[in-house]
Amino acid sequence: MTNQKSVTREMFDEVMVPNYAPGKVIPVRGEGSTLWDQNGNAYIDFAGGIAVNVLGHAHPALVHALKSQGEKLWHLSNVLTNEPAIRLAKRLTELTFADKVFFANSGAEANEAALKLARRYAWEHYPAEKNNGVEKNEIIAFNNSFHGRTLFTVSVGGQAKYREGFEPVPGGISHVDYNDLDALAAKISDKTCAVIMEPIEGEGGIIPATQAFIEGVRALCDKHNALLIFDEVQTGVGRTGALYAYMNYGVTPDILTTAKALGGGFPIGAMLTTDEIAKSLVIGTHGSTYGGNPLACAVSEAVIDIVSDPAVLEGVKEKNKLFVDGLNAINEKYAVFEEVRSAGLLVGGALNAQWHGKAKDFLMAAQHEKLMILVAGPSVIRFTPSLVISEDDIKEGLSRFEKAVATVVGQ
Ligand SMILES: *Cc1c(COP(=O)(O)O)cnc(C)c1O
Repeated sequence: MTNQKSVTREMFDEVMVPNYAPGKVIPVRGEGSTLWDQNGNAYIDFAGGIAVNVLGHAHPALVHALKSQGEKLWHLSNVLTNEPAIRLAKRLTELTFADKVFFANSGAEANEAALKLARRYAWEHYPAEKNNGVEKNEIIAFNNSFHGRTLFTVSVGGQAKYREGFEPVPGGISHVDYNDLDALAAKISDKTCAVIMEPIEGEGGIIPATQAFIEGVRALCDKHNALLIFDEVQTGVGRTGALYAYMNYGVTPDILTTAKALGGGFPIGAMLTTDEIAKSLVIGTHGSTYGGNPLACAVSEAVIDIVSDPAVLEGVKEKNKLFVDGLNAINEKYAVFEEVRSAGLLVGGALNAQWHGKAKDFLMAAQHEKLMILVAGPSVIRFTPSLVISEDDIKEGLSRFEKAVATVVGQ
């Protein structure tokens, strides 16, 4: 066996494409909300692999699902079907508005499927001759949104920096301000085939849609026969205290995408939609070699079983309060946040003007205190812990965070 320590952070720079800048610490093992590094140091994990490890690390039910499926069948491709995929699709359709599921391997791929479906649906149902003489193929998305890193999804995403140097990008896409219904009303037309939005902008800084906005978007889509796509890649699978965030708002999309937490750490994504809309992806129109992989679906089934338990979802709301109260108390002492924004265990501390652009400093200081946190843009600190993190871990993590804040502000 190779010595664990024979792998170093320096080796990353030697052999990896330099698109990431990982921290110095190399974790080698995790259990619950604790991570251990190569030197045996224990960290509290408030990051959860960017809102992915929704049941922490090495959850026994997920380990069991992976091991038992691993001994049976790993992969078939979609030339055949497999039991875990159908069982998972059945559960997802029982628990949501959707009648039909398409499996992918990531959030971007789930969005790619959603956007392609929206185009295809409009192409089929509203050809120009039936649509006041205009093509119906335009997609409206929101400034500051994030939908993934494929060329189509960076084009739809509302952050120009992610497109820079990759042009030309696909056409027929426009952006308006989030939570600005007038801007959407001015842009949407018979040409619009879909509006895509995150119910809460995640990467963009934990910005929830207002109730009036999300209802207004739904109404404008209905008026213009445009499909409404909710990108719930980050907000889905219990993160906000409901299985999907749309349930909190009482506003139902036509298409929903889910990934990140769906596999609890095993790569999987899915697009959910209705019978009627699904019909537009007829045989041969879309596909994925790995989509619906039995290992991924078996693990995801175990995730959904646990997360859909009302007691787990209720726990998310209680833990939200611990986080928000804890962060507000820290803020009273150190005055670093202008606002703490949250939905369930998607929690953001928006830094005030004095600390703008400095979120990364807090992240580094937290790592020094043996706490893993995230940022959401340069000025928001993001916490996306396991949904089943213990109260003790939350309290200990917050006390480490307070020490990190004290270091950064120099007190
Ligand atoms: C992370 C994320 C994606 C992209 O998911 P990948 O699995 O990285 O492709 C898309 N949309 C939202 C809202 C996300 O948070």
